[in-house]
Amino acid sequence: MFTLLGDRPSSQKLIQLSNSKLVFKLINDSDGISRAKIASITKLSPTTISSLTDELINKGLVIETGEKVVKSSGRRPILLDVKEEGAFFVSVDLQEKGFNIALYNLKCKLIKEKFVELHSFHELSRHIIIHTLNMIEKSKNEESRLLGICIGAPGLIDIANERIISSTILPIEEDNEFCKELKERFPGVKIELVNESSLSAYAEKQFVERVKTIENLLYIDIHTGIGAGIIINGNIFRGANNLAGEFGHISVDIKGPTCKCGAKGCLETVANIKAIMKQLKEYDTIEEVAERYDESYVDVRVAVNKNAKYIAYGINNAVNLLNPEAVIIGGQIKIFGYKYLNEIIKSYKEIALSKNKDIPILLSQVEGNPVTLGGAKYMLDKILMR
Ligand SMILES: [Zn+2]
Repeated sequence: MFTLLGDRPSSQKLIQLSNSKLVFKLINDSDGISRAKIASITKLSPTTISSLTDELINKGLVIETGEKVVKSSGRRPILLDVKEEGAFFVSVDLQEKGFNIALYNLKCKLIKEKFVELHSFHELSRHIIIHTLNMIEKSKNEESRLLGICIGAPGLIDIANERIISSTILPIEEDNEFCKELKERFPGVKIELVNESSLSAYAEKQFVERVKTIENLLYIDIHTGIGAGIIINGNIFRGANNLAGEFGHISVDIKGPTCKCGAKGCLETVANIKAIMKQLKEYDTIEEVAERYDESYVDVRVAVNKNAKYIAYGINNAVNLLNPEAVIIGGQIKIFGYKYLNEIIKSYKEIALSKNKDIPILLSQVEGNPVTLGGAKYMLDKILMR
């Protein structure tokens, strides 16, 4: 919406633009803040703050929330808060058999979500468009208030050409153009394609209390595939060509099975959910396996703990490289709970450098879908707060 300020803003307007974002960020980070307080934090003049906040109110992004109760006598300033229904984001989590699509309001609260099963990814953009419009209509939102669409994908992403280069999970063609097609249908809406594990890591960093103060984080995401989200200095680290975090393709066995990527013994071949299920053919679902793991069935315990050991070796490799403040385990593997986590920690401590042994290894605590939640927050930050 800030792009509506002018096609090619002059430098003066650019300063205004960043001031607008700064003011919005202060309002967003508070639970009610006065204009005077914003002026004192930003050192901008009260007149400037007044005009910036009026602009945000006129755009429907901020509301006045009444008076703050001040014990001492004197002025009782009107507080400002983000208008949560003022704008919204669409967040998509691409998966092996379809996608999760969710609508989040301006405060990143979930409005609606659903899973869309796909038999082919050939017309991905068409399906995303249909379900986006359908959800907007059902939630009685206006398309004009759609600020951004984030697509979380398991796979390698070519940012310049806005496409998924390859994925060992998604049955998608290399020349996929779904981002461009979405842009054609939603001109003016910011559309971003981001690695799903990065978004999960971002959600953890932004929404989980114990992790909020941690600036350097490694998030291990284990489900059909295995990926990692890396947070450095509070931001998603994407690497030179956006290819950082391919944790699943760290080799833990040079004589191991050949991976879809061509290498041998990649973690993804020995430690994803499929690798566990392959060893336990008598069970149909991961839920069933998790139940038996709780009950310590020998065959299940052996298979799942072997997985934990592989993951611990992978974590040790990554920790030696990145020296993060904490490691988070997320994804479908969370179903095995603290018993599984403790196995990872036990194996990790056996091999970690002495200085690294005490790095906390934690289970993800994000509620709901971390990919779509992280996507909504990522878009909010990208559009309104940076
Ligand atoms: Zn591989």
